Amino acid sequence: MKNKILAITILLLIGCDSSSTINPYDTDGGNDNSGSGGSGGGGDTNLPVGFTKFIDTHTDVYISGNYVVVETAGIPNHNSPYWGAGHTNYEAPHSGMSVNPNIISAQNFKFYIPLNPTVANTVASTPLGAIGVSLSGVPFYNQYAGPNNQPLAQETGSFDVYYGHPQQTGQYHYHWEPLYLTFADNSILIGYSLDGFPVYGPTNQTDGNYPTDLDDINGHTHITNEYPNGTYHYHATSTVPYLIGGYKGTVGAASGGGYFTN
Ligand SMILES: [Zn+2]
Ligand SMILES: [Zn+2]
Repeated sequence: MKNKILAITILLLIGCDSSSTINPYDTDGGNDNSGSGGSGGGGDTNLPVGFTKFIDTHTDVYISGNYVVVETAGIPNHNSPYWGAGHTNYEAPHSGMSVNPNIISAQNFKFYIPLNPTVANTVASTPLGAIGVSLSGVPFYNQYAGPNNQPLAQETGSFDVYYGHPQQTGQYHYHWEPLYLTFADNSILIGYSLDGFPVYGPTNQTDGNYPTDLDDINGHTHITNEYPNGTYHYHATSTVPYLIGGYKGTVGAASGGGYFTN
């Protein structure tokens, strides 16, 4: 992973134009982490199809025991003011944006996502910090700005044009729909919750409509392209809780599950 981070860093430093280093729509229908010689752990043929959608240049995805592991530096696959002035992927703040003082820095994430998610007896609150991971490796955060359920409203002014921003240690994250992933199709799979259930853009793949039957934590159940037999899943919404309002499923414990970073 270190080598990969280094490679990404070098790639970014040698100043390729943004179109060659950043491609939002390179979810490439199966070439990524496909389990057939991609970077997904050297040929993991059992990877569930949803996990083959992770963007190969930003993630390594493979099965380990009862988990799918997503290794990633957690950096966005798009421009942002938060790369810092002078960086290849820097872009000026959008109108009205109040840029926070933090700069994007590469992490060393390992997300352990249950291979076979199970519905828990009770819905658990999500913690602060990463609660899931997007297809580009950028973590999802919850609907709060800080401890004691501080409302996110105090932070949204610092979101870049793709609805992300970094926190104090440079960890870039999305509290809202990751617009760079959903720009072309807002019904797509956008990532996974740490409880193993998938997260989709704001519309249903089944009918193209905005769902009207979401539960309190933004979830419901139906078939999707990746889950032809149906699955519980979350949707991005423009109102609270925005992405994952709580864990419907069981997040793994200390022996596996959750996530790690340095
Ligand atoms: Zn935040
Ligand atoms: Zn749905």
